[in-house]
Amino acid sequence: TTHTFADDRYDSMTYRRSGRSGLKLPAISLGAWETFGGYRGEEVARACLYRAFDLGITHFDLANNYGRPAGNAEVVVGKVLKDMPRDELIISTKAGFYMWPGPYGEWLSKKYLVSSLDQSLKRLGLEYVDIFYAHRPDPETPLEETMAALDLIVKQGKALYVGVSNFSGPQYVQAVQVAQRMGLSPITIHQPYYNLFGRWAEKDLFEHTVNNGTGVITYSPLAQGLLSDKYLDSVPGDSRAAQWWGKENKNDVVDAATVDKLQRLNAIARERGQSLAQMALAWNLHFPAVTSVLIGASKVEQIEENVAALNNLAFSAEEVKAIDAIAPQ
Ligand code: NDP
Repeated sequence: TTHTFADDRYDSMTYRRSGRSGLKLPAISLGAWETFGGYRGEEVARACLYRAFDLGITHFDLANNYGRPAGNAEVVVGKVLKDMPRDELIISTKAGFYMWPGPYGEWLSKKYLVSSLDQSLKRLGLEYVDIFYAHRPDPETPLEETMAALDLIVKQGKALYVGVSNFSGPQYVQAVQVAQRMGLSPITIHQPYYNLFGRWAEKDLFEHTVNNGTGVITYSPLAQGLLSDKYLDSVPGDSRAAQWWGKENKNDVVDAATVDKLQRLNAIARERGQSLAQMALAWNLHFPAVTSVLIGASKVEQIEENVAALNNLAFSAEEVKAIDAIAPQ
């Protein structure tokens, strides 16, 4: 198409290396879960992806099951990607959660991973993705089979790098060992749940990813929007809570104890010259283990606000102490 992207799109974003790989990711990446192809359509997706790219966000994250019906996020984002420069973008997708009926439609068998990625490529309209993830650990399939399937996918050129998501520290370490022992493609990136209200990865994971040279991209950094000032007084009609969770009353979204924590965190954020959402994102990025923080957005303004979090990523010892007291590890 005729759309022209900003000439200065690489001027202010910072790019960080994913572990010891050659892959650099923007400090802030954008995901499609729930929003694009979910409670937001193609026009919003296009506006958000274009604006994100103009701000230097080169990485967009998907999974086979995102959107309603499952797969619709890849269809919607795929249409937009046709009008964007493929070689300037890092596109990821995943397989692991339920996608179709029968024994081959979920978990991490070779059969499912290969079939699912082929479906994802069709929906996205792409020849390859940059990162393909095992979306969750599989208690039954041998890790040797899963890691070999990921390696096969890389050798076939359907993905350039592979990653794991939702693996515990020990599960991740096991996967690294299998890949090393069998001489397979390394795990370039881990995608864990992490935010100020869910700090498990600090103890369980980060040490292991650093030691093994794997990057980390944290998802749900705002706990799906809770770690912002949006639900402090009421539930905005255009919010995920109102539109997707069917909640109208703020007490159904955040209980009194959570509101109290959010207000205290909000006060710290204001003193730092940030919104609460910006401080929550900066918090993720202040860990050397974290390569990129993976946000969701339902409107362009959120992307702009969130990218401005990069203006202050440092936390003083006093701030860390105050945050620990409100939202402990
Ligand atoms: P967030 O915690 O960033 O929540 C995103 C939502 O927060 C937005 O849709 C918006 O909600 C709200 N929001 C964003 N910015 C602001 C702001 N500045 N002020 C107020 N509200 C704001 O992330 P998600 O939970 O959406 O996850 C992000 C991505 O992570 C997903 O798209 C997906 O790619 C990935 N992910 C991976 C998973 C995995 O298992 N690997 C699981 C879940 C997510 P609203 O719509 O209300 O405006």
